[in-house]
Amino acid sequence: KAKYSQPIVGGNWKCNPASHSTLPTLVSNFEGVADYLSDCDVYVCPSNLHVSLVKDSFVPGISVAPQNCNFGGCGAYTGEMAVDQIKDLGLDTVLIGHSERRGEFGLPTPKESNELMATKLKYILDQGLKCVFCIGEPLPVREKGIEAVVEECTKQLEDIVPILKELEDKSRVVIAYEPVWAIGTGVTASPSQAQETHSALRSWIATAVDAKTAEGIRIQYGGSANAGNAKELSEMDDIDGFLVGGASLKPEIVDIVKALM
Ligand code: PGA
Repeated sequence: KAKYSQPIVGGNWKCNPASHSTLPTLVSNFEGVADYLSDCDVYVCPSNLHVSLVKDSFVPGISVAPQNCNFGGCGAYTGEMAVDQIKDLGLDTVLIGHSERRGEFGLPTPKESNELMATKLKYILDQGLKCVFCIGEPLPVREKGIEAVVEECTKQLEDIVPILKELEDKSRVVIAYEPVWAIGTGVTASPSQAQETHSALRSWIATAVDAKTAEGIRIQYGGSANAGNAKELSEMDDIDGFLVGGASLKPEIVDIVKALM
């Protein structure tokens, strides 16, 4: 099986849990991951309010990654979190472009546009951090077929092509392919559907950026990934790991990591 590089699994807690008193339980769900950390990168995205509360409580080797960041530094940006502040807390990764931020149907809104994502990515990389960059298509696009899906997803990548070209260490950017219709719905992309998209994205990257980036960049699958479907999905050549929402709040996160071993 051709694997491009070390697999990577992320847990996206979104705006959960309601009470910080349950954080220790959620953190402890990740304890069993410790045995696999030499063969799989693992990060967790707690809600922004909880980042500082949990950042030192995971087993060493798990990264804590905020779910968003500002497009620039500190200053007059009410409600935002600057990359500078994230770095200052000792965090090394940021997730951006999740469809729940880009817009209701996963299509870029004027505010969280593709262009803005590129500005954020550049800022994150310039500060020496790593980035998980989310993309994906809504259901009406998927219904039109694979060509429309690839067109929609690559549109979300076009603005970052020059940034990827310049990037020395390709492992610092991870693409999370998350079909919007699969997020939180219990409907997972089938292994062949996901593989077809991942492989098309990798080919597009080889042409639009270069072969080195296509080989070195990791593409995670996200959208109702769980312990039941992770094994089959992980057998696909171009699936380098998972971005997990709902199941990352449960002990089964360990089985999802195990599925990649
Ligand atoms: P889900 O969410 O696993 O609950 O579908 C994935 C995500 O939104 O990252």
